[in-house]
Amino acid sequence: MTLNFPAAAERYLRFRERIFAVGVEGPTSSIVAEPATASESELEIQARWFGGEFGRRFVGTEGEKIEIVQFGHWNRAAGPDFTEAAVKIDGTLKAGPIELDLDVRDWEAHGHGSNPAFEETVLHVFTDGPSLSRFYTRTEGHQLVPQVQLPQYAWSQGPPDFLPEAFPGRCVAPLGAMTDAEVDSLLLSAAQYRLQQKAERLRVMASSTTPEQALFQALAEALGFRVNKTPMAILSQRCPIRELVEMEPLDREARLFGAAGFLNQEFVSEAADKESRRYLRQLWDRWWKIRDQIEPLRGRSIPWCFSGNRPLNHPQRRVGALASLVDSWDDVSTFWEQNVNNLQKQVNNSLRNLHHPFWELNYTLKADPAPKPLRLLGEDRLRDILGNVVFPGAIEIAGGENRLWDEYLGLRKVDSNQKLRRASLRLFGSDEKRRKLFTSYYHQQQGLLQIYQDFCLEDVSDCEKCPFPEQLLQWQSADQVSDRLKAPQKSLLLQ
Ligand code: SF4
Repeated sequence: MTLNFPAAAERYLRFRERIFAVGVEGPTSSIVAEPATASESELEIQARWFGGEFGRRFVGTEGEKIEIVQFGHWNRAAGPDFTEAAVKIDGTLKAGPIELDLDVRDWEAHGHGSNPAFEETVLHVFTDGPSLSRFYTRTEGHQLVPQVQLPQYAWSQGPPDFLPEAFPGRCVAPLGAMTDAEVDSLLLSAAQYRLQQKAERLRVMASSTTPEQALFQALAEALGFRVNKTPMAILSQRCPIRELVEMEPLDREARLFGAAGFLNQEFVSEAADKESRRYLRQLWDRWWKIRDQIEPLRGRSIPWCFSGNRPLNHPQRRVGALASLVDSWDDVSTFWEQNVNNLQKQVNNSLRNLHHPFWELNYTLKADPAPKPLRLLGEDRLRDILGNVVFPGAIEIAGGENRLWDEYLGLRKVDSNQKLRRASLRLFGSDEKRRKLFTSYYHQQQGLLQIYQDFCLEDVSDCEKCPFPEQLLQWQSADQVSDRLKAPQKSLLLQ
């Protein structure tokens, strides 16, 4: 028996549905975008909106059929967030800016209702509002602005990621009573479900923008790691790939660094050494010519996170890696369409060969050079790009081919992080052997993260009311475990 690609994901989906039907309000099926949550900043949601994650078609607060014909441009000056957008409202095309706020009442709280710069706004997008009354969006000239509330689900607003690191959950006992094969099948199904969600996100982004832009943004996000994921997404949106590939290499690098906010007199004057100054001068000489058309006002600059990064992952170095990746765009742009026997090898070969004469030897624009050359993308980053970007997109385009799914299962683990550590401690408690066994492969880590997201982050009862432990008993036994587990070359359990 061969495991069809969607089969395991559907099994996990049914498992989820059963659980949510039993104990908690929750999602039932196909949620295209992760819902906006209270912990997200306005800028993050704006980036997700502009990246097309929420799609193009909406129902307005008055029941209007709303279609985003074009998302416009990030506004780099005062006024609404996105300019030159085009929106069809009940079939009538309207051109103008779009404003996106966290709360519908921010329109008045921020003074937009009395600001002439907002007069032409064609759409007000928001995530939240008063529960007992209706708030209308009006311009200074008393024009009513159509509104769209982004998907927001009460069930998703559980507590943020605060659970103590070493707190075994109530599911430790029932999981401990399951065989390795049963636990592996659970993780595999959760991982496949998660992969499908990622593939769906990329599909929606690709259809809202272009496949190339969706790939470019997803790669930029992956280069930004967790802390600079949104800043890198914004940078990729402010410097679209279709424009970058038309530019000379140094011009586009200047555009990326300038749009990122890393080219100004302060950086030039504080450059660490002659070589850094020479590199910056090269970029500056190109940047000043386009600066007026590109540079955002200070209040709209990209909010980089400079702390908590390893020196190798400093945002300036990540932008250098992005520039280098665009230099190889002919190759990179085909990642989702490669019909090869070993996608991992193919992608690794392309990305391992990324070179940059300055960023191979420097951590930042200000720091002293590194004593020896440093790779632009390490093994862990390459694997994460494969697992988070390349495989989801390639599997989606290839219609869920088993060949790609089997190859995905062979991806080895990435370095542990706080969420993974918490998830494995909560589910496996002090069983170190299982914690190790079930975090050896990328898909197992993804499965753990999915369960952690679905149950641990939703739970506000200290495990007491979490329905997961009881439902685990119903998880089917090893005879329904996929053939993958029986194949010696793939199974962890038979090694
Ligand atoms: S919240 Fe549920 S899934 Fe998470 S540790 Fe507790 S019992 Fe397990």
